[in-house]
Amino acid sequence: MRFYNSLTRRIEEFVPHTEGKVAMYTCGPTVYHFAHIGNLRSYIEEDVLEKALRYAGYDVKRVMNITDVGHLSSDADTGEDKMLAGAKREHKSVMEIADFYTKAFFDDCEKLNIKRPDVVEPATNCIPEFIHMIEVLLEKGYAYQAGENVYFDTSKLDEYYVFGGLSSEDLYVGVRDDVEEDPNKRNRNDFVLWFTKSKFEDQALKWDSPWGVGYPGWHIECSCISMKHLGEYIDIHCGGVDNIFPHHTNEIAQSEAYLGHEWCHYWFHVHHLNDRSGKMSKSKGNILTVSVLQEKGYDPLVYRFFCLQSHYRKPLEFSYEALDNAAAAYQKLKKRTLEFAGAEGPVSAEKTAPYREAFLQALGNDLNTAAALTVIYDVLKADLNGAEKRALIEDFDKVLSLSLLTESETEETEEDPALVAYVEEMIEKRKNAKKEKNFALADEIRAELLQKGIVLKDTREGTLWEKQ
Ligand code: AMP
Ligand code: ZN
Repeated sequence: MRFYNSLTRRIEEFVPHTEGKVAMYTCGPTVYHFAHIGNLRSYIEEDVLEKALRYAGYDVKRVMNITDVGHLSSDADTGEDKMLAGAKREHKSVMEIADFYTKAFFDDCEKLNIKRPDVVEPATNCIPEFIHMIEVLLEKGYAYQAGENVYFDTSKLDEYYVFGGLSSEDLYVGVRDDVEEDPNKRNRNDFVLWFTKSKFEDQALKWDSPWGVGYPGWHIECSCISMKHLGEYIDIHCGGVDNIFPHHTNEIAQSEAYLGHEWCHYWFHVHHLNDRSGKMSKSKGNILTVSVLQEKGYDPLVYRFFCLQSHYRKPLEFSYEALDNAAAAYQKLKKRTLEFAGAEGPVSAEKTAPYREAFLQALGNDLNTAAALTVIYDVLKADLNGAEKRALIEDFDKVLSLSLLTESETEETEEDPALVAYVEEMIEKRKNAKKEKNFALADEIRAELLQKGIVLKDTREGTLWEKQ
């Protein structure tokens, strides 16, 4: 398989450190708000990457952190902790916010058929590991204490800007985020490993450390959590492109300073989902969630399909018009694949092999999901029997996860419009009867509906109904 590696800026043959095994790390969400569909674009593409590696026969172990402390409103280590801001916004504790939005994140993942990574670790679970790593970095001379915080000294590295091709604006977070300089830093891009002193004295979560009571910086968590579960070498590290600098640059700096050798060879970055006003971002507040799409009547898998139609390394512009086109194409495709859902019979390995190969080749060509989708259309048109078509679609869907062979719930629950109009009219009549205190008529209406298998339920939001 060949993937683009942001570190070398080339498409490279993927060769893991240990033959047949892949250690994969994913930067998880900062759980102070709902994940927006931009965040979820990254997780959809990473999910396909993981499943593609498994499809190719690798034994994959995938680890993801949950950022529940240390991610400040500016990536330059100033500003307020995002978690604390979330807690204040909702008048809850930081842990309540973390629990609520972690659950919401995995609910959204489930709706999008995104598999849960093998290990999911919240940053607040790993404080002793962070402290240990910082101690080693201090011993080795890669870190220093200043103004009661501990900083990583970027000048101690031969090369700090390991991801080439960044613009000067990208490299200078202070300018990008329009924040004041931290006078304790020896070098402009030094970053905080441990805070005991920040402008925000009311930081909710604090722990004892050799440098005083405080809390970890954001970058240290990913280095430690990956080493805790995947050891000294990881094969592939994922995230959105905004993570390249400073987050991934700093992860590499501290991990390699600590280990004394290369840590991760392949870096996989998903480009942004933009809307007309630019990058979708939680802090900007212009967020669109899976629930909003559902409220508007979209099957969440339409969004997954929309993402898979384009390449992960290109920015993707969101619009409802584009989503409607994806919905139409997805519905049409599913209608065709569902025809084969129950097909049984002999499956010729020889006849199906070229399609499996074409599918794997598309994925191995820098995760070309659009080309992988084309293979499904080729299968549908091919001179294969129904069982062969079903077997291939079933197999490909293990990677694409578009539920191509299962009826979606919305299709199942779609009601006959005439029945809906009739029931709604009866509910209205019953409401008026109750208003006029004609309870006998109200009961009659309920009984009449029940005879037709319609059960009414009176709730605070009004009368709901369902079929028995
Ligand atoms: P966060 O919850 O902000 O830590 O971000 C979670 C993941 O979503 C990270 O990998 C980000 O790089 C990624 N991300 C953030 N915004 C976008 C976007 N608009 N499009 C795609 N990925 C994004
Ligand atoms: Zn990370």
